[in-house]
Amino acid sequence: MSAAVVRAALSPAAFVDRDGTLIEEVDYLTRVEDMRVLPGVAAALARLGRAGYLRVLVSNQSGVARGMLDEERLAQIHAELLRRLRADGGDLELVLYCPHLPGAPVKAYDRACECRKPAPGMLLEAARRLPIDLPRSIAFGDSLRDVEAAERAGARGVLVRTGKGEAEFALARAAGRAITAHADLAAAVRAELG
Ligand SMILES: [Mg+2]
Ligand SMILES: [Zn+2]
Repeated sequence: MSAAVVRAALSPAAFVDRDGTLIEEVDYLTRVEDMRVLPGVAAALARLGRAGYLRVLVSNQSGVARGMLDEERLAQIHAELLRRLRADGGDLELVLYCPHLPGAPVKAYDRACECRKPAPGMLLEAARRLPIDLPRSIAFGDSLRDVEAAERAGARGVLVRTGKGEAEFALARAAGRAITAHADLAAAVRAELG
């Protein structure tokens, strides 16, 4: 099989950040009751799915390393997030998170890992698990770390101005950095898909 044929069998991914992008930014979400899905998010994920994107959540969750919640609690939060997204027509093909933090109090997670964004590890892991074409993939996030992780994985990153995005966009502009930013995930998906 030629390389071109292999490439054609691959799909682009939409890598989506969680906090400040899919759900309201709160300092270390530890209780499912505090989770608020942002407006238009489920419909935007549905549209990405119809357009052939594999939808992958990639989320830094250092609250685990900080001892604020365990992975079981985190799994409950993600199950509830999926339930709410699906109830509104959205979905995710894969959920990945990084529980690590160098110097963290929970020793099992005290690690300088390859997955904590801006490192590209989660995006590369997704591309090992799913038939993803990284050069055609887009990451959506409210942090410059999300954009950097995308670029380091060979994909493209766009900033959403929800969550920490407005402040992050101001930082990027002050540094003279060219960066694409949209009001929220729905606007970003409209801009990307036309
Ligand atoms: Mg975020
Ligand atoms: Zn990690």
